[in-house]
Amino acid sequence: MEKIDILSLDLSELEAVLVENGEKKFRAKQIFQWLHVKRVFDFDKMTDLSIQLRQRLNEIFCINGLFVQKKLESSIDNTVKYLYRLSDGNFVETVLMEYNYGYSICVSTQVGCKMGCRFCASAIAGFVRDLRPSEILMQIYQTEQDAGVKVSGIVLMGIGEPLDNYDNVIKFLGLLSDKNGNDMSLRHVSLSTCGIVPKIYELAERKLQLTLCISLHSADNSRRSEIMPVNRAYDISELLKACRYYIDKTGRRITFEYAVIDNVNSSDKDADKLADLLRGINCHVNLIPVNKVKERNYTTARSGVADFAKRLGKRGINATVRRTLGSDIEAACGQLRRDAADQKRKEGADS
Ligand code: SAH
Repeated sequence: MEKIDILSLDLSELEAVLVENGEKKFRAKQIFQWLHVKRVFDFDKMTDLSIQLRQRLNEIFCINGLFVQKKLESSIDNTVKYLYRLSDGNFVETVLMEYNYGYSICVSTQVGCKMGCRFCASAIAGFVRDLRPSEILMQIYQTEQDAGVKVSGIVLMGIGEPLDNYDNVIKFLGLLSDKNGNDMSLRHVSLSTCGIVPKIYELAERKLQLTLCISLHSADNSRRSEIMPVNRAYDISELLKACRYYIDKTGRRITFEYAVIDNVNSSDKDADKLADLLRGINCHVNLIPVNKVKERNYTTARSGVADFAKRLGKRGINATVRRTLGSDIEAACGQLRRDAADQKRKEGADS
């Protein structure tokens, strides 16, 4: 019988499995705390459980840890990028960033991505599979352990499209914020999506306190469709309608992300069109200088981003420019995994 991935179970599911196996229900809370509060990932070290119970747990459950395949530390700004190997040999990336208010972590939600955004390295290496809740959670738990820090912010902006792995992401958010476990307020979590409209409506109904970030990158439908294929399924007007609904339902402000790319979306006209589109919406714009991806020719002039921000500001749109972190360690989404996947393919071809 396949062992159960215990770190993907919420407390009530854990209780149910224990009871099914003839164990006492109250043990679930104890085990849940070992995992999510004390962060002990070895049943044999759960010292207030009997040896017999620990043996049973080993028979029923597995705890799939991640292995650090590669770790790159920026010498400019203390950003640390992890390439984690999953139990099935696939890779994901996690980035730990230091800000003056604390640490923030960027986690992946899928192995690869189906969305095919032109400027994104994750799309180039292709899609393999969804991550399980435990695999998203362990990126946080193990990075905290490895780096000896506690993170105060989490962004779902690594490899993958969170709303394309909706159920597992929702489960992960539940585990992260469970009062009996890790107990993190979802106010410290940002979830970024390229704009899968039906899932934005579904998420709105949950009224979570997280910050929804929308990767917009263009206010023009034909341009957005060129750089983000998802726009052909859900265009800008449908996306904005869903965003308005989300804001109404949750009372939360939305962040729009906009990677400023020379000759693609960086002109004054582009800024004006964006300002017109967002006027009256309770939102914030985060401008990102595009991260260079070696397969693509996209660039951003720093002055271009500043001018763009200024122009938006003049038109009443609140915009900030995202700090570039870890520029010496390829911190852009998907670049390490793509290199590791290339390497694996090469080794396969050589042997
Ligand atoms: N799939 C989700 C989350 C992952 S990407 C999404 O699309 O939002 C996180 C953010 O980084 C997105 O805004 C994405 O558009 C942006 N991004 C991807 N590649 C980039 C690059 N080369 N330069 C700048 N931003 C990039």
